[in-house]
Amino acid sequence: MIWIVLIITGAIAAVIAQSKGRSGLGWFIYGACFPGIAIIHALCIKENKDTKKQCPDCRSWVDRKAKVCKNCSYRFTKKEMQVLVEEEQAKQENLNSRNKVAAVVLVIVIIAGICIINYIKAMNP
Ligand SMILES: [Zn+2]
Repeated sequence: MIWIVLIITGAIAAVIAQSKGRSGLGWFIYGACFPGIAIIHALCIKENKDTKKQCPDCRSWVDRKAKVCKNCSYRFTKKEMQVLVEEEQAKQENLNSRNKVAAVVLVIVIIAGICIINYIKAMNP
């Protein structure tokens, strides 16, 4: 029963964090380990600027994939877009390796949890 609650709290934290450009899996683990705390934390964190880019004309932050600045209608050049694509790919590779680490941590946490539950059961027959 407690596992269902932990999965739900983990999922809520992951959804909030992902909407702010953070690692969903990492926040899922965080949310499952510290229910409540992680959700509040996820709500408090600032939006990751990595998903945004700054308009060279008016200095406002717009979506990374935007071709035109919503503030001043500045058109991003093909070259500027290309640099962003390359950055995006590098970041994605970085994120993939981080997700692998998070997956390993998740497995360890689950195994540790099962061991603790079995230990508690053995202590209280
Ligand atoms: Zn602009």
